Amino acid sequence: MKKIAIIGAGISGLFIANLFKRSSNYQITVYEKSVSIDLDEGYGIQLSVNSVKLLNQIGFDKFKNDQKFNPDKINFYSIESSNKICDLNISDYNSENCKYTTLKRSELVKFLKKDLENVIKINHSISKIVQQNQKIQLIFENNETSECDHLIISDGVFSKSKSLILENQTPPRYNKTLAIRGTIPISQKINCRNISLFLGPDFHYVIYPVNQNGDLNFIAIMKYKLNKEEQKNHSLFNDANFIKRILDKVPIEMREFLDQIKKLKIFPVFVSDSFFKTKNNNMHLIGDAFFSFPPSFAQGASQSIEGAYELFENIENNTESNFFKNRVNKTRMVNNRSKINQFAFHLSNPLTRLFRDFFLKRLVKNKKFLENYLGKIYKN
Ligand SMILES: Cc1cc2nc3c(=O)[nH]c(=O)nc-3n(C[C@H](O)[C@H](O)[C@H](O)COP(=O)(O)OP(=O)(O)OC[C@H]3O[C@@H](n4cnc5c(N)ncnc54)[C@H](O)[C@@H]3O)c2cc1C
Repeated sequence: MKKIAIIGAGISGLFIANLFKRSSNYQITVYEKSVSIDLDEGYGIQLSVNSVKLLNQIGFDKFKNDQKFNPDKINFYSIESSNKICDLNISDYNSENCKYTTLKRSELVKFLKKDLENVIKINHSISKIVQQNQKIQLIFENNETSECDHLIISDGVFSKSKSLILENQTPPRYNKTLAIRGTIPISQKINCRNISLFLGPDFHYVIYPVNQNGDLNFIAIMKYKLNKEEQKNHSLFNDANFIKRILDKVPIEMREFLDQIKKLKIFPVFVSDSFFKTKNNNMHLIGDAFFSFPPSFAQGASQSIEGAYELFENIENNTESNFFKNRVNKTRMVNNRSKINQFAFHLSNPLTRLFRDFFLKRLVKNKKFLENYLGKIYKN
């Protein structure tokens, strides 16, 4: 029986643990540094069909359907005029059992952890990783030690495991944007059946339903400079004066939502610039530890799920050495599109915005373009 150790109980770690758990050939343990699994309510997730298809293999299609939503469209609006620019039919990529899905992150995590209670070890923060021939030894901050045959690193964008095994790795880069997120109640002014994407200069925000009760997720991305000290200062994002300073910069047209946002949280967005290959074929990175994207293509969770599935299949088929190259190719495609989206969403010059809207109206109806831009990503 092969021993699999997974570091980090986020979406990617929990999903791959579910995949291995189906086979009696593996003994799995998930090590999580926190004292509980993060079930923060105020955070929505969009899952495109590529990840829903894979999640369905472990029963996601049968999980709490009232706590999920299947939007048909993304409606694009201008923040300044509130006019609708155009809409994109994301349901074109759906099939009978596999539909574009929005839900609370906490519900997805509840689903992923429900069959893993006896394999998750909380309060286990990794402190040392030692490779001994084909075995890997893990040492945790609580001085516990453990051994495994395969190590899967899924401890997020600031992966400590990555820094333990890779020398000279570049840390994630501040994406020069802040995320403002929370939940808002059902509203007459918002189309509660679809995803609404509002575009403004150096700013965009997205509102979408997260369940059948009409609860809405709010997420805004604002261009914002932070100096090196501010980037490291986590307490800044709990400081009332700093939060006020940020919210004062929000476009006037959006202010009416601000009072309604519950569980409002502001945080800096960090992204990856390069890929890191481990020296050993039995150690792998997945999820945000592998690569973290700008959030403007809403693919972070979906790619975490897709990468976890690919790694699982490669370990099953003894083709682990193929994992890195294939994942890099897909990740590059997603990253380029995420950067293009962010650039286009945040245009500030009125003339270039006019051009953008003109092209956007045409592109969202151009099947050939959509097949290349979205279809390639949603296929796996
Ligand atoms: C603003 C914003 C909006 C987003 N919106 C979307 C969206 O709509 N759709 C989408 O698909 N994606 C979205 N994403 C991205 C998505 O949330 C992430 O890509 C995804 O959650 C990554 O999952 P993960 O498992 O790799 O990492 P994480 O979810 O970060 O999990 C890492 C886990 O590892 C644990 N850990 C950390 N250090 C250690 C250690 N030393 N030892 C042990 N455990 C450790 C952590 O506590 C955590 O539980 C968004 C991201 C941002 C920033």
